[in-house]
Amino acid sequence: MKLVIAQMKHETNTYSPVPTPLARFATGAAGPAVPSEGAAAVAAYRGTGSAIGAFIELAEQAGAEFTVPVAASAWPSGPVHDAAFEHIAGRICEAVAKGCDAVLLDLHGAMVTERFDDGEGELLRRIRAIAPWTREVPIGVALDMHTNLYDAMGANATVIAGYQTYPHVDMHGTGLRAGRAILAQLAGKARPTMAWGRQPMLPHVMRQGSDDEPNRTLQARCKAMEAEGALAASVFVGFPNADIEFAGLSAVVVTDNDPALARRWCDELLEMAWRERSKFVYRIEPLADSMARAQRLAADGPPGAPRAGPVVLLDHSDNCASGGTMDTMTVLGAMLDAGLTDAAAFAIFDPEAARAMAAAGIGAELTLPLGGKLDMPAIGLKGQPRIVTGRVRRLSDGRYRNFGPMARGEANNMGLSALFEVAGIEVAVISDHVEPHDLAAFAALGIAPQQKRFLMLKSRVHWRAGLKPLAHAVVECAGTGVCTSDYDLLAFKKVRRPIYPLEAI
Ligand SMILES: [Zn+2]
Repeated sequence: MKLVIAQMKHETNTYSPVPTPLARFATGAAGPAVPSEGAAAVAAYRGTGSAIGAFIELAEQAGAEFTVPVAASAWPSGPVHDAAFEHIAGRICEAVAKGCDAVLLDLHGAMVTERFDDGEGELLRRIRAIAPWTREVPIGVALDMHTNLYDAMGANATVIAGYQTYPHVDMHGTGLRAGRAILAQLAGKARPTMAWGRQPMLPHVMRQGSDDEPNRTLQARCKAMEAEGALAASVFVGFPNADIEFAGLSAVVVTDNDPALARRWCDELLEMAWRERSKFVYRIEPLADSMARAQRLAADGPPGAPRAGPVVLLDHSDNCASGGTMDTMTVLGAMLDAGLTDAAAFAIFDPEAARAMAAAGIGAELTLPLGGKLDMPAIGLKGQPRIVTGRVRRLSDGRYRNFGPMARGEANNMGLSALFEVAGIEVAVISDHVEPHDLAAFAALGIAPQQKRFLMLKSRVHWRAGLKPLAHAVVECAGTGVCTSDYDLLAFKKVRRPIYPLEAI
Protein backbone atom coordinates (compact mmCIF):
# COMPACT_ATOMS: atom_id res chain seq x y z
CA MET A 1 0.00 0.00 0.00
CA LYS A 2 1.40 3.37 -1.02
CA LEU A 3 0.09 6.67 0.33
CA VAL A 4 0.77 10.29 -0.55
CA ILE A 5 0.45 12.48 2.56
CA ALA A 6 0.65 16.27 2.26
CA GLN A 7 -0.29 19.52 3.92
CA MET A 8 -1.40 22.83 2.36
CA LYS A 9 -2.95 25.14 4.94
CA HIS A 10 -3.91 28.78 4.62
CA GLU A 11 -6.93 30.75 5.76
CA THR A 12 -7.19 33.74 3.46
CA ASN A 13 -8.52 37.11 4.60
CA THR A 14 -9.21 38.80 1.27
CA TYR A 15 -9.12 42.21 3.04
CA SER A 16 -5.64 41.64 4.51
CA PRO A 17 -2.67 43.62 3.18
CA VAL A 18 -0.25 41.00 4.55
CA PRO A 19 1.34 39.24 1.54
CA THR A 20 1.39 35.45 1.21
CA PRO A 21 4.48 34.31 -0.68
CA LEU A 22 5.89 30.80 -0.48
CA ALA A 23 8.21 31.76 2.39
CA ARG A 24 5.19 32.28 4.66
CA PHE A 25 4.43 28.55 4.35
CA ALA A 26 7.72 27.58 5.97
CA THR A 27 6.26 27.76 9.52
CA GLY A 28 7.33 24.31 10.61
CA ALA A 29 10.56 24.19 8.61
CA ALA A 30 13.97 24.57 10.19
CA GLY A 31 15.20 26.93 7.51
CA PRO A 32 13.55 29.96 5.94
CA ALA A 33 11.92 30.44 2.56
CA VAL A 34 10.41 27.07 1.61
CA PRO A 35 8.04 24.60 3.27
CA SER A 36 9.56 21.33 4.41
CA GLU A 37 9.50 18.21 2.21
CA GLY A 38 10.17 14.51 2.51
CA ALA A 39 12.04 13.30 5.58
CA ALA A 40 12.25 16.84 6.99
CA ALA A 41 8.46 17.19 6.78
CA VAL A 42 7.97 13.83 8.48
CA ALA A 43 10.39 14.85 11.24
CA ALA A 44 8.63 18.21 11.69
CA TYR A 45 5.15 16.73 12.12
CA ARG A 46 5.53 13.15 13.41
CA GLY A 47 4.09 12.96 16.91
CA THR A 48 2.51 16.44 16.81
CA GLY A 49 -1.11 17.31 17.43
CA SER A 50 -1.74 18.01 13.74
CA ALA A 51 -3.82 16.25 11.09
CA ILE A 52 -0.70 15.49 9.04
CA GLY A 53 0.88 14.06 12.20
CA ALA A 54 -2.13 11.73 12.49
CA PHE A 55 -1.78 10.65 8.82
CA ILE A 56 1.89 9.81 9.35
CA GLU A 57 1.00 7.84 12.48
CA LEU A 58 -1.73 5.85 10.67
CA ALA A 59 0.57 5.08 7.73
CA GLU A 60 3.34 3.85 10.01
CA GLN A 61 0.94 1.74 12.09
CA ALA A 62 -0.44 0.18 8.89
CA GLY A 63 3.08 -0.53 7.63
CA ALA A 64 2.28 1.48 4.50
CA GLU A 65 4.84 2.96 2.17
CA PHE A 66 4.29 6.73 2.12
CA THR A 67 5.76 9.96 0.82
CA VAL A 68 5.30 13.51 2.11
CA PRO A 69 6.02 15.74 -0.91
CA VAL A 70 5.29 18.95 1.03
CA ALA A 71 4.10 20.19 4.42
CA ALA A 72 3.07 23.80 3.92
CA SER A 73 1.32 25.84 6.59
CA ALA A 74 1.07 29.61 6.76
CA TRP A 75 -0.54 32.00 9.23
CA PRO A 76 -3.62 33.65 7.72
CA SER A 77 -3.04 36.68 5.48
CA GLY A 78 -4.05 38.04 2.08
CA PRO A 79 -4.57 35.97 -1.09
CA VAL A 80 -1.90 33.33 -1.66
CA HIS A 81 0.59 34.28 -4.36
CA ASP A 82 0.13 32.25 -7.52
CA ALA A 83 3.76 31.11 -7.42
CA ALA A 84 3.31 29.74 -3.89
CA PHE A 85 0.16 27.83 -4.82
CA GLU A 86 1.76 26.43 -7.97
CA HIS A 87 4.80 25.27 -5.97
CA ILE A 88 2.76 23.51 -3.28
CA ALA A 89 0.03 22.07 -5.55
CA GLY A 90 2.76 21.10 -8.03
CA ARG A 91 4.71 19.10 -5.41
CA ILE A 92 1.54 17.23 -4.42
CA CYS A 93 0.46 16.48 -7.99
CA GLU A 94 3.97 15.29 -8.97
CA ALA A 95 3.95 12.84 -6.07
CA VAL A 96 0.47 11.54 -6.92
CA ALA A 97 1.44 11.17 -10.58
CA LYS A 98 4.15 8.68 -9.57
CA GLY A 99 1.40 6.33 -8.42
CA CYS A 100 -0.35 5.66 -5.12
CA ASP A 101 -3.28 3.80 -3.57
CA ALA A 102 -4.66 6.81 -1.67
CA VAL A 103 -4.01 10.47 -0.90
CA LEU A 104 -4.33 12.01 2.58
CA LEU A 105 -4.41 15.81 2.69
CA ASP A 106 -4.21 18.19 5.64
CA LEU A 107 -5.87 21.29 4.14
CA HIS A 108 -7.52 24.37 5.57
CA GLY A 109 -10.60 24.86 3.41
CA ALA A 110 -10.59 28.67 3.19
CA MET A 111 -7.63 29.25 0.89
CA VAL A 112 -8.03 31.98 -1.73
CA THR A 113 -5.22 32.46 -4.22
CA GLU A 114 -4.60 35.32 -6.62
CA ARG A 115 -6.31 33.24 -9.33
CA PHE A 116 -8.63 30.89 -7.48
CA ASP A 117 -11.30 31.70 -4.88
CA ASP A 118 -11.33 28.00 -3.95
CA GLY A 119 -7.69 26.93 -3.59
CA GLU A 120 -8.49 23.51 -2.10
CA GLY A 121 -11.08 22.73 -4.78
CA GLU A 122 -8.54 23.63 -7.45
CA LEU A 123 -5.91 21.32 -5.89
CA LEU A 124 -8.38 18.41 -5.72
CA ARG A 125 -9.58 19.04 -9.27
CA ARG A 126 -5.96 18.91 -10.47
CA ILE A 127 -5.30 15.62 -8.68
CA ARG A 128 -8.38 14.07 -10.31
CA ALA A 129 -7.20 15.30 -13.72
CA ILE A 130 -3.69 13.78 -13.57
CA ALA A 131 -4.59 10.41 -15.12
CA PRO A 132 -7.60 8.14 -15.62
CA TRP A 133 -6.73 6.18 -12.45
CA THR A 134 -6.59 9.35 -10.28
CA ARG A 135 -10.30 9.92 -11.01
CA GLU A 136 -10.97 7.00 -8.68
CA VAL A 137 -8.12 7.15 -6.15
CA PRO A 138 -9.44 7.61 -2.58
CA ILE A 139 -8.68 11.10 -1.26
CA GLY A 140 -9.11 11.78 2.45
CA VAL A 141 -9.14 15.42 3.53
CA ALA A 142 -8.91 16.99 6.99
CA LEU A 143 -10.30 20.53 7.04
CA ASP A 144 -10.35 23.45 9.47
CA MET A 145 -13.69 24.42 11.00
CA HIS A 146 -13.33 27.77 9.17
CA THR A 147 -13.65 26.10 5.79
CA ASN A 148 -15.67 27.98 3.18
CA LEU A 149 -16.97 24.96 1.31
CA TYR A 150 -17.11 24.89 -2.48
CA ASP A 151 -18.66 22.06 -4.50
CA ALA A 152 -15.27 21.20 -6.01
CA MET A 153 -14.11 20.08 -2.56
CA GLY A 154 -17.12 17.84 -1.97
CA ALA A 155 -17.16 16.50 -5.51
CA ASN A 156 -13.46 15.60 -5.66
CA ALA A 157 -12.72 14.39 -2.13
CA THR A 158 -13.69 10.87 -1.06
CA VAL A 159 -13.85 11.64 2.66
CA ILE A 160 -13.92 15.05 4.35
CA ALA A 161 -13.57 15.42 8.11
CA GLY A 162 -13.52 18.82 9.83
CA TYR A 163 -12.32 20.02 13.20
CA GLN A 164 -15.08 19.87 15.79
CA THR A 165 -13.48 22.29 18.24
CA TYR A 166 -12.71 26.02 18.23
CA PRO A 167 -10.09 26.68 19.58
CA HIS A 168 -8.87 23.87 17.37
CA VAL A 169 -7.61 21.30 19.85
CA ASP A 170 -8.71 18.27 17.78
CA MET A 171 -6.60 18.62 14.62
CA HIS A 172 -5.00 15.25 15.30
CA GLY A 173 -8.33 13.53 15.92
CA THR A 174 -9.67 15.00 12.68
CA GLY A 175 -6.74 13.51 10.78
CA LEU A 176 -7.49 10.14 12.39
CA ARG A 177 -11.16 10.30 11.32
CA ALA A 178 -10.34 11.16 7.70
CA GLY A 179 -7.41 8.73 7.51
CA ARG A 180 -9.17 5.76 9.14
CA ALA A 181 -12.13 6.02 6.77
CA ILE A 182 -9.78 5.89 3.78
CA LEU A 183 -7.77 2.98 5.20
CA ALA A 184 -11.03 1.12 5.85
CA GLN A 185 -11.98 1.69 2.23
CA LEU A 186 -8.59 0.38 1.02
CA ALA A 187 -9.08 -2.70 3.19
CA GLY A 188 -12.51 -3.29 1.66
CA LYS A 189 -14.18 -2.70 5.02
CA ALA A 190 -16.06 0.51 4.16
CA ARG A 191 -17.55 2.33 1.18
CA PRO A 192 -17.55 6.02 2.10
CA THR A 193 -20.33 8.13 0.64
CA MET A 194 -20.63 11.83 1.26
CA ALA A 195 -23.26 14.55 1.30
CA TRP A 196 -22.60 18.27 1.72
CA GLY A 197 -24.45 21.55 1.69
CA ARG A 198 -24.36 25.21 2.70
CA GLN A 199 -26.58 27.78 4.36
CA PRO A 200 -26.64 31.45 3.31
CA MET A 201 -25.25 32.67 6.63
CA LEU A 202 -22.01 34.28 7.82
CA PRO A 203 -21.49 33.39 11.50
CA HIS A 204 -19.30 35.95 13.32
CA VAL A 205 -15.95 34.52 14.40
CA MET A 206 -16.43 35.95 17.90
CA ARG A 207 -19.58 33.84 18.26
CA GLN A 208 -18.12 30.61 16.85
CA GLY A 209 -16.33 29.14 19.90
CA SER A 210 -17.25 25.49 20.41
CA ASP A 211 -17.66 26.09 24.16
CA ASP A 212 -20.39 28.61 23.30
CA GLU A 213 -23.86 28.17 21.89
CA PRO A 214 -24.98 27.50 19.28
CA ASN A 215 -21.78 25.84 18.03
CA ARG A 216 -21.44 23.63 21.10
CA THR A 217 -24.73 21.87 20.31
CA LEU A 218 -23.97 21.67 16.58
CA GLN A 219 -20.61 20.01 17.17
CA ALA A 220 -22.10 17.70 19.80
CA ARG A 221 -24.63 16.54 17.20
CA CYS A 222 -21.76 15.80 14.79
CA LYS A 223 -20.07 13.65 17.43
CA ALA A 224 -23.38 11.88 18.14
CA MET A 225 -23.78 11.07 14.43
CA GLU A 226 -20.30 9.54 14.43
CA ALA A 227 -21.25 7.49 17.49
CA GLU A 228 -24.32 6.35 15.51
CA GLY A 229 -22.18 5.20 12.59
CA ALA A 230 -21.19 8.21 10.46
CA LEU A 231 -17.57 7.91 9.28
CA ALA A 232 -17.29 11.69 9.75
CA ALA A 233 -19.76 14.49 10.44
CA SER A 234 -18.70 18.13 10.30
CA VAL A 235 -20.24 21.57 10.60
CA PHE A 236 -18.02 24.29 9.18
CA VAL A 237 -18.81 27.68 10.68
CA GLY A 238 -16.91 29.33 7.83
CA PHE A 239 -14.56 32.29 7.62
CA PRO A 240 -16.41 35.56 6.99
CA ASN A 241 -13.49 37.93 6.34
CA ALA A 242 -13.28 36.55 2.81
CA ASP A 243 -15.16 38.19 -0.02
CA ILE A 244 -15.82 35.06 -2.08
CA GLU A 245 -19.07 33.57 -3.31
CA PHE A 246 -19.29 30.66 -0.86
CA ALA A 247 -18.02 32.20 2.38
CA GLY A 248 -20.10 31.00 5.31
CA LEU A 249 -21.55 27.97 7.04
CA SER A 250 -21.65 24.47 5.57
CA ALA A 251 -21.85 20.82 6.61
CA VAL A 252 -20.47 17.50 5.33
CA VAL A 253 -21.49 14.01 6.45
CA VAL A 254 -19.77 10.79 5.37
CA THR A 255 -21.54 7.46 5.89
CA ASP A 256 -20.62 3.89 5.07
CA ASN A 257 -22.43 3.13 1.82
CA ASP A 258 -25.64 4.95 2.80
CA PRO A 259 -26.02 8.09 0.66
CA ALA A 260 -29.60 8.72 1.82
CA LEU A 261 -28.53 8.77 5.47
CA ALA A 262 -25.58 11.05 4.68
CA ARG A 263 -28.01 13.45 2.97
CA ARG A 264 -30.52 13.32 5.81
CA TRP A 265 -27.89 13.92 8.50
CA CYS A 266 -26.25 16.72 6.53
CA ASP A 267 -29.63 18.45 6.08
CA GLU A 268 -30.36 18.03 9.78
CA LEU A 269 -27.11 19.84 10.69
CA LEU A 270 -27.80 22.61 8.19
CA GLU A 271 -31.35 23.10 9.49
CA MET A 272 -30.14 23.20 13.11
CA ALA A 273 -27.59 25.90 12.21
CA TRP A 274 -30.17 27.95 10.31
CA ARG A 275 -32.62 27.90 13.22
CA GLU A 276 -29.90 29.25 15.51
CA ARG A 277 -28.53 31.85 13.09
CA SER A 278 -29.32 34.87 15.29
CA LYS A 279 -27.08 33.41 18.03
CA PHE A 280 -24.09 33.67 15.66
CA VAL A 281 -24.50 37.47 15.48
CA TYR A 282 -21.95 39.45 17.49
CA ARG A 283 -22.74 42.72 19.26
CA ILE A 284 -19.78 45.06 19.45
CA GLU A 285 -19.05 47.00 22.64
CA PRO A 286 -17.49 50.46 22.15
CA LEU A 287 -13.79 50.43 23.10
CA ALA A 288 -14.15 53.14 25.77
CA ASP A 289 -16.79 51.04 27.55
CA SER A 290 -14.55 47.96 27.34
CA MET A 291 -11.59 49.81 28.87
CA ALA A 292 -13.70 51.13 31.75
CA ARG A 293 -15.11 47.67 32.37
CA ALA A 294 -11.63 46.11 32.37
CA GLN A 295 -10.51 48.56 35.04
CA ARG A 296 -13.51 47.81 37.22
CA LEU A 297 -12.90 44.06 36.85
CA ALA A 298 -9.26 44.44 37.89
CA ALA A 299 -10.08 46.35 41.06
CA ASP A 300 -8.18 44.90 44.00
CA GLY A 301 -9.83 42.46 46.36
CA PRO A 302 -9.36 42.60 50.15
CA PRO A 303 -5.82 43.46 51.35
CA GLY A 304 -3.56 40.42 51.35
CA ALA A 305 -5.86 38.36 49.10
CA PRO A 306 -4.08 36.56 46.26
CA ARG A 307 -4.51 38.04 42.84
CA ALA A 308 -7.13 36.22 40.80
CA GLY A 309 -5.23 36.31 37.48
CA PRO A 310 -5.21 38.84 34.69
CA VAL A 311 -8.14 40.60 33.10
CA VAL A 312 -7.71 39.55 29.48
CA LEU A 313 -8.29 42.28 26.91
CA LEU A 314 -8.94 40.71 23.52
CA ASP A 315 -7.97 42.89 20.57
CA HIS A 316 -10.26 40.91 18.29
CA SER A 317 -10.05 43.19 15.24
CA ASP A 318 -6.37 42.50 14.73
CA ASN A 319 -5.69 38.82 15.20
CA CYS A 320 -3.09 37.32 12.89
CA ALA A 321 -4.90 33.97 12.97
CA SER A 322 -7.69 35.70 11.07
CA GLY A 323 -5.33 37.58 8.74
CA GLY A 324 -4.83 40.70 10.88
CA THR A 325 -1.68 42.78 10.42
CA MET A 326 -1.14 42.43 14.18
CA ASP A 327 0.32 45.92 14.20
CA THR A 328 -2.64 48.21 14.91
CA MET A 329 -2.09 50.26 18.06
CA THR A 330 -5.69 51.16 18.95
CA VAL A 331 -6.19 48.83 21.92
CA LEU A 332 -2.63 49.07 23.24
CA GLY A 333 -2.89 52.85 22.78
CA ALA A 334 -6.12 52.92 24.83
CA MET A 335 -4.35 50.95 27.58
CA LEU A 336 -1.49 53.47 27.60
CA ASP A 337 -3.93 56.41 27.58
CA ALA A 338 -5.83 54.88 30.50
CA GLY A 339 -2.58 54.42 32.43
CA LEU A 340 -3.00 50.66 32.90
CA THR A 341 0.12 49.18 34.48
CA ASP A 342 1.25 45.76 35.66
CA ALA A 343 0.27 44.59 32.19
CA ALA A 344 1.54 42.62 29.21
CA ALA A 345 0.56 42.83 25.54
CA PHE A 346 1.09 40.04 23.00
CA ALA A 347 2.02 41.05 20.42
CA ILE A 348 2.86 43.95 18.11
CA PHE A 349 4.20 42.86 14.70
CA ASP A 350 6.97 45.30 13.84
CA PRO A 351 10.21 43.85 12.41
CA GLU A 352 11.71 47.33 12.03
CA ALA A 353 11.19 48.12 15.72
CA ALA A 354 12.48 44.66 16.73
CA ARG A 355 15.69 45.30 14.77
CA ALA A 356 16.12 48.72 16.41
CA MET A 357 15.64 47.12 19.84
CA ALA A 358 18.15 44.37 19.09
CA ALA A 359 20.66 46.95 17.86
CA ALA A 360 20.19 49.06 21.00
CA GLY A 361 20.56 45.99 23.23
CA ILE A 362 19.07 44.79 26.49
CA GLY A 363 18.65 47.60 29.02
CA ALA A 364 18.64 50.37 26.42
CA GLU A 365 15.98 53.07 26.50
CA LEU A 366 14.45 53.92 23.14
CA THR A 367 11.87 56.29 21.72
CA LEU A 368 10.44 55.05 18.43
CA PRO A 369 7.28 54.70 16.34
CA LEU A 370 5.76 51.33 17.26
CA GLY A 371 3.32 49.37 15.07
CA GLY A 372 1.10 50.89 12.40
CA LYS A 373 3.53 50.15 9.56
CA LEU A 374 0.96 48.48 7.29
CA ASP A 375 -1.82 50.34 5.51
CA MET A 376 -5.17 48.59 5.20
CA PRO A 377 -6.62 49.89 1.91
CA ALA A 378 -9.45 47.32 1.82
CA ILE A 379 -11.01 48.95 4.88
CA GLY A 380 -9.83 52.48 4.05
CA LEU A 381 -7.29 52.82 6.85
CA LYS A 382 -3.70 54.00 6.95
CA GLY A 383 -1.30 52.42 9.41
CA GLN A 384 -0.92 54.58 12.50
CA PRO A 385 2.26 54.03 14.51
CA ARG A 386 2.40 55.35 18.05
CA ILE A 387 5.51 57.05 19.35
CA VAL A 388 6.48 55.32 22.58
CA THR A 389 9.40 55.42 24.97
CA GLY A 390 10.43 52.24 26.70
CA ARG A 391 13.22 49.93 27.73
CA VAL A 392 14.41 46.75 26.03
CA ARG A 393 14.10 43.99 28.63
CA ARG A 394 14.71 40.83 26.62
CA LEU A 395 15.59 39.66 23.12
CA SER A 396 14.84 36.31 21.48
CA ASP A 397 15.24 34.53 18.15
CA GLY A 398 11.51 33.84 18.51
CA ARG A 399 11.61 30.08 18.11
CA TYR A 400 9.51 27.91 20.38
CA ARG A 401 7.55 24.68 20.38
CA ASN A 402 3.89 24.56 21.45
CA PHE A 403 3.23 22.64 24.63
CA GLY A 404 -0.45 23.55 25.04
CA PRO A 405 -3.47 21.65 23.75
CA MET A 406 -3.61 23.29 20.31
CA ALA A 407 -1.15 22.05 17.66
CA ARG A 408 0.84 20.47 20.48
CA GLY A 409 4.49 19.88 19.69
CA GLU A 410 4.52 22.00 16.53
CA ALA A 411 7.41 24.40 15.99
CA ASN A 412 6.67 28.11 15.77
CA ASN A 413 8.75 31.08 14.82
CA MET A 414 8.01 34.70 15.70
CA GLY A 415 11.35 35.86 14.31
CA LEU A 416 13.60 38.36 16.00
CA SER A 417 11.56 39.42 19.02
CA ALA A 418 11.88 41.82 21.92
CA LEU A 419 10.21 42.43 25.23
CA PHE A 420 9.82 46.20 25.38
CA GLU A 421 8.55 47.76 28.59
CA VAL A 422 6.51 50.90 28.03
CA ALA A 423 4.94 52.71 31.00
CA GLY A 424 4.33 49.54 33.00
CA ILE A 425 3.22 47.41 30.04
CA GLU A 426 5.46 44.60 28.80
CA VAL A 427 4.97 44.65 25.04
CA ALA A 428 6.06 41.67 22.93
CA VAL A 429 7.42 42.98 19.62
CA ILE A 430 7.70 40.29 16.96
CA SER A 431 8.96 39.95 13.36
CA ASP A 432 6.86 36.99 12.17
CA HIS A 433 3.18 36.44 12.90
CA VAL A 434 2.05 34.04 15.62
CA GLU A 435 -1.20 34.04 17.55
CA PRO A 436 -0.84 33.89 21.34
CA HIS A 437 -2.58 30.59 22.09
CA ASP A 438 0.33 28.80 23.74
CA LEU A 439 2.24 29.70 26.90
CA ALA A 440 5.48 28.76 25.16
CA ALA A 441 5.28 32.00 23.15
CA PHE A 442 5.25 34.00 26.38
CA ALA A 443 8.03 31.90 27.91
CA ALA A 444 10.23 32.63 24.90
CA LEU A 445 10.19 36.30 25.93
CA GLY A 446 10.16 35.74 29.68
CA ILE A 447 6.61 37.03 30.16
CA ALA A 448 4.66 35.57 33.10
CA PRO A 449 1.06 36.30 32.06
CA GLN A 450 -0.47 34.74 35.17
CA GLN A 451 1.23 37.40 37.30
CA LYS A 452 -0.15 40.35 35.36
CA ARG A 453 -3.15 42.46 36.22
CA PHE A 454 -4.00 43.06 32.57
CA LEU A 455 -3.14 40.89 29.61
CA MET A 456 -3.82 42.23 26.12
CA LEU A 457 -3.98 39.52 23.45
CA LYS A 458 -4.37 39.95 19.72
CA SER A 459 -6.67 36.96 19.53
CA ARG A 460 -10.32 36.08 19.12
CA VAL A 461 -10.99 32.51 20.31
CA HIS A 462 -7.76 30.47 20.03
CA TRP A 463 -6.21 32.12 23.12
CA ARG A 464 -8.62 30.00 25.17
CA ALA A 465 -6.61 26.88 24.28
CA GLY A 466 -3.61 27.72 26.46
CA LEU A 467 -4.57 30.80 28.47
CA LYS A 468 -8.22 30.63 29.46
CA PRO A 469 -7.44 28.87 32.77
CA LEU A 470 -5.37 31.91 33.83
CA ALA A 471 -7.97 34.56 33.11
CA HIS A 472 -9.78 36.27 35.96
CA ALA A 473 -12.10 37.97 33.45
CA VAL A 474 -12.33 38.60 29.72
CA VAL A 475 -13.12 41.87 28.00
CA GLU A 476 -13.52 41.89 24.22
CA CYS A 477 -12.03 45.13 22.86
CA ALA A 478 -13.03 46.46 19.45
CA GLY A 479 -9.84 47.96 18.06
CA THR A 480 -9.05 48.42 14.40
CA GLY A 481 -7.92 45.95 11.78
CA VAL A 482 -8.80 43.79 8.80
CA CYS A 483 -10.33 41.05 10.90
CA THR A 484 -12.87 43.46 12.28
CA SER A 485 -16.02 41.88 13.67
CA ASP A 486 -18.02 44.79 12.21
CA TYR A 487 -19.37 43.57 8.86
CA ASP A 488 -20.33 47.19 8.02
CA LEU A 489 -16.62 47.91 7.54
CA LEU A 490 -16.16 45.13 4.97
CA ALA A 491 -17.13 45.58 1.33
CA PHE A 492 -18.79 42.27 0.40
CA LYS A 493 -18.90 42.30 -3.40
CA LYS A 494 -18.56 38.64 -4.37
CA VAL A 495 -20.31 36.81 -1.56
CA ARG A 496 -23.68 35.37 -2.67
CA ARG A 497 -26.72 37.40 -1.65
CA PRO A 498 -28.95 37.39 0.20
CA ILE A 499 -26.95 36.13 3.14
CA TYR A 500 -27.68 36.44 6.85
CA PRO A 501 -27.02 38.76 8.71
CA LEU A 502 -26.09 41.10 5.82
CA GLU A 503 -29.74 40.64 4.89
CA ALA A 504 -32.36 39.88 7.53
CA ILE A 505 -33.54 36.60 5.99
ZN1 LIG B 1 -9.81 27.82 12.01
